[in-house]
Amino acid sequence: MDNCVFCKIIDGSIPSKKVYEDDKMLAFYDIEPAAPVHVVMIPKAHIKSADELDEQSSLYVAHIFSKAGEIARSVGIKNGYRIVNNCGADGGQTVFHMHFHLLGGKTLGKMG
Ligand code: AMP
Ligand code: ZN
Repeated sequence: MDNCVFCKIIDGSIPSKKVYEDDKMLAFYDIEPAAPVHVVMIPKAHIKSADELDEQSSLYVAHIFSKAGEIARSVGIKNGYRIVNNCGADGGQTVFHMHFHLLGGKTLGKMG
């Protein structure tokens, strides 16, 4: 998708610090970390937001969650983590290619 930062990260035209990649997803370090360890996990398909998901595209979400623990351990997260999806403008989404934040490396406080 033209002008999508995350599609450009997937095609390599914008650099990223990759931590995991396969045919369906990519995970890389967030440039503005909100926790000691902050990885962004994205599908290799331009799905605008979680609000757009259907039965078929939800398979990307299942795949991302199935890899999250392995990715967390590979970046040194030990005692749990938080996965966050910001959905839509009021949900705090700023990049409109669906993604999941993987946050860890400290005891995270209450959400809210
Ligand atoms: P959200 O606000 O949920 O849409 O999250 C977008 C996230 O993408 C933010 O945490 C940004 O810091 C991160 N981000 C934006 N551009 C890049 C980039 N080029 N490389 C890594 N992370 C990025
Ligand atoms: Zn995209």
